[in-house]
Amino acid sequence: MSIATDTSPATGTTGSALRDRAFGNATGLACRECGHEIELGPHYACPECFGPLEVAYDFPEVTREQIEAGPRNIWRYKALLPVPDDIEQSPNMEPGYTRLLRADNLARELGLEKLWVKDDSTNPTNSFKDRVVACALSAATEFHSKVFACPSTGNLANAVAAAGARAGIKTVVFIPANLEKPKQVNSAVYTENLVAVNGNYDDVNRLASEIAGEEEGWAFVNVNVRPYYAEGSKTLGYEIAEQLGWRLPDQIVIPVASGSQLTKVHKAFQELIKLGLVEDKPYKVYGAQATGCSPVSVAYKAGIDAIRPVKPDTIAKSLAIGNPADGIYVLDICRETGGAVEDITDDQVREAIVLLARTEGIFTETAGGTTVGVLKKLVETGQLDTSLETVVINTGHGLKTLDAVSDLVGAAATIEPSYAAFTASGII
Ligand SMILES: *Cc1c(COP(=O)(O)O)cnc(C)c1O
Ligand SMILES: [Zn+2]
Repeated sequence: MSIATDTSPATGTTGSALRDRAFGNATGLACRECGHEIELGPHYACPECFGPLEVAYDFPEVTREQIEAGPRNIWRYKALLPVPDDIEQSPNMEPGYTRLLRADNLARELGLEKLWVKDDSTNPTNSFKDRVVACALSAATEFHSKVFACPSTGNLANAVAAAGARAGIKTVVFIPANLEKPKQVNSAVYTENLVAVNGNYDDVNRLASEIAGEEEGWAFVNVNVRPYYAEGSKTLGYEIAEQLGWRLPDQIVIPVASGSQLTKVHKAFQELIKLGLVEDKPYKVYGAQATGCSPVSVAYKAGIDAIRPVKPDTIAKSLAIGNPADGIYVLDICRETGGAVEDITDDQVREAIVLLARTEGIFTETAGGTTVGVLKKLVETGQLDTSLETVVINTGHGLKTLDAVSDLVGAAATIEPSYAAFTASGII
């Protein structure tokens, strides 16, 4: 397949043929703004209007039974993803099919009738990013990319570095220099090429786009292979529906960084309805941000359509994107479905981390604290119907952001090794 109008930096394939069905049932890339369609390739911007491109499909009939017979990872949904039919054969981290836990204790605490936590902290590198990276890796492989790279707020760098190591492809990951130490170590352990940039995520992202434009054969997962990367988030939506017994929840709370995950969970629900895999019904989508980086929440509350970029200042570093690429689509979805976008302070983020841990035994990172804390605020402010079935997504693991709560939960009670010292400690 030759590439007629190449608006994106090359990743090594320009002019060379793609394998037949290298992208499964995907048929092309469609512009989300003007609808213009181009051939599958390493492109991300519309040649007509520079709008973002999205993978388009021609789905065959897909049944629940087919999916249920698949592996217990995201490839059970391979017919709905831009990946080859034999994707299970290629080395990858096999993320997904994480647990959906009924959260009765947290529900009682918040005054909700039925609540579930979709716990993506149990993915191979302990965040939902393993899903998107698995799809990006498949695309980069088809494009014969030499380098697997990303600008990252932390978790993406972990996932790219690990997946690249397993696939045997060179990785280079870029992060803001002020990132939490555990997230830095969690990348450096997998790759020699961890680059800390003096600047915030938006600066790192700009640098990555520049490198992608200059260097041949680099696949930046969330820049020039972004359309394929983004599709990985749909698997969160598919899993939630399947794990609820093939039905959609009434409402769902999702964290918002670039906004990609939220838009793709909604896309997944819409696809399941169109394919007849779940019954059509209304559902509300809510977006969660931290006040220190809440450009989408600010626009939502102001009732405007444009996102005004901000300079992030929050402990929720994995959500700290000041200029979110998919922010306007998040606004559309939350408004159209009757949901909302809300934000909470860093102290509320910390409290929510402890609340989730002490009610459900789940240790989430600051992004999950943001999401659970926003759920609490939505209930308290009457923006969410407490009688409806609710799902909240935990996207990452608390061990990566220990410092956020280490002061809040207090130190151990240190005693001498004697029974007398124990009884004197006041614990019993
Ligand atoms: C990346 C990330 C998100 C949100 O990502 P989007 O850019 O909005 O798709 C949420 N939680 C965690 C822990 C993340 O790492
Ligand atoms: Zn366009």
